[in-house]
Amino acid sequence: MNKEPEFERVLIKLSGEALMGNQGFGITPEMIHYVAEEIAKVYRLNVQISIVVGGGNIFRGVAGSSAGMDRTSADNMGMLATVINSLALCDALEKCDVPTRVQSAIPMDRIAEPFIRLKAIRHLEKGRVVIFAAGTGNPYFTTDTAAVLRAHETHAQILFKATQVDGVYDKDPVVHDDAVMFRELSYMRVIEKQLHVMDMTAISLAMEHDLPLQVFDLHQEGNIYKAVTGQEDIGTRIY
Ligand code: UDP
Repeated sequence: MNKEPEFERVLIKLSGEALMGNQGFGITPEMIHYVAEEIAKVYRLNVQISIVVGGGNIFRGVAGSSAGMDRTSADNMGMLATVINSLALCDALEKCDVPTRVQSAIPMDRIAEPFIRLKAIRHLEKGRVVIFAAGTGNPYFTTDTAAVLRAHETHAQILFKATQVDGVYDKDPVVHDDAVMFRELSYMRVIEKQLHVMDMTAISLAMEHDLPLQVFDLHQEGNIYKAVTGQEDIGTRIY
């Protein structure tokens, strides 16, 4: 049964790892098709959707193969990785009949539009999904911070972080049997307890301009739909 959407404009943050399936790196066709279908279900409710996708499935500036590299060079590579993921997701969404545009924070006009805030908003109003690629365009930031920034800039009502875990816990649930998942949290609590939701830059930017965040498991089918239609029984809401 179709439910009414609770939000008119949302931003969905996907980690790069969300696209790699169980092969441990890169992009798997099954996984990207699954993600595109999950987003298409929400698109069909006439919700305006923008997306920020990470790059951790290909390259991360602070870990792994970047060891020993200059941080800025490594981060530039990480941002390029997000462009690869964005193009793959755009292709998969178009195959689900969802008109999609990629806007890149680093100009590369042969393969993506440049990020132009008002143009992005116009796309959303015209019923196109917009994927914001290349993070913030600056080293030393993350795609979580890029997601909060773009959500503010385009006046998204909420940021959904669809991820590998089902919510935010008081301690690591893999290590501790008695870990408890929060249903709701304040930004301050996240900062004070150093809870692993997003990096501190992203959380403070969300707090400063009152952007609610909801963290939930991407791999549970229908979760994006549930989040957008305001079914409260999934994940952790931070506000
Ligand atoms: N990155 C960056 N500036 C940004 C966003 C991302 O330098 O504004 C780089 C950084 O090296 C990061 C990589 O891109 O490690 C991939 O992004 P992220 O780690 O946020 O991806 P995710 O963990 O969501 O897959």
